[in-house]
Amino acid sequence: MSVFVLGSINLDAVARVDDLPRPGETVAGLSLELFPGGKGANQAVAAARMGAPTRLMGAVGKEDSGPNLKATLAGYGVQVSDVFELKGTPTGQAHVWVGSGGENMIVVTSGANAAVTPQHVAATALEGQRVLLSQLESPAQAIEALFRAGAAKGALRILNAAPALPQGAALFPLTDILILNQTELATYAKLDAEPAKLEEVSRASRKLMSRPDQIVIVTLGAAGVACIRRDEAFLIEGRKVKAIDTTGAGDCFCGALASALAISMDLREAVELANAAAALSVQKSGAAPSMPSKREVEAFLEG
Ligand code: AMP
Repeated sequence: MSVFVLGSINLDAVARVDDLPRPGETVAGLSLELFPGGKGANQAVAAARMGAPTRLMGAVGKEDSGPNLKATLAGYGVQVSDVFELKGTPTGQAHVWVGSGGENMIVVTSGANAAVTPQHVAATALEGQRVLLSQLESPAQAIEALFRAGAAKGALRILNAAPALPQGAALFPLTDILILNQTELATYAKLDAEPAKLEEVSRASRKLMSRPDQIVIVTLGAAGVACIRRDEAFLIEGRKVKAIDTTGAGDCFCGALASALAISMDLREAVELANAAAALSVQKSGAAPSMPSKREVEAFLEG
């Protein structure tokens, strides 16, 4: 009934500004806050908060913020015994700027995240891990090793192919559920414009499928989520909320979905729950700290 996440762990430095700077421009920051982040860590926190026992595999620096980040993630209920502390290597960092409308710009430096290898994966016991979840902020060879080992054990493999990277596409055939946003879908499907209508999203998503049983899920921001299988495509509309900070909304969706699927929820029900969790997450600052608990999501759905 558990989720195993292979992914990045970063220190996020979040500066708020009135208007995001253009190239060459300097703007005054309104505030600066430090949060635990990284797509892997965010998704693991979201999965754990939604109730599934969740293990995170990754790497941080030993001499900087790394050990502290690990302790913080453990405080959110994530099992961190597979997070390595590396000497002489910096912890990954994300520098996030958030504008007054909640829009963001992000620069990520990978640091220790780049040091996770297929050998680390091979040395990890995956027995009892029902859902495997990864993103592209970890080395593709390590993700490939995890998905191959998981296939042999009958685990469900979910890839959030973010950020959009050329090496990501090679992992698609090893993936059972592929999660993308509209920008990533346009990049992988080689489209000039981002698909918006369900029919366009569906057509583009099918270009990425290499097996008849694969599922592609496309997050559409405030518009919600599209879900595409070989014989069906459906849209779950976004919840009407006031967005404060959309950082980590996609991560919240991925982690919550993995958690719901680990407890055997049906796909549509799991997507609805994850859509509601992500809508709650955009109403709070930061990524990991904005992940809602299962109780909060259930109360939101009932209310
Ligand atoms: P995105 O990565 O922007 O596509 O967002 C991921 C998911 O978060 C979406 O599919 C929605 O479920 C949710 N979400 C993002 N932005 C909003 C918003 N402004 N209002 C409601 N839900 C949102």
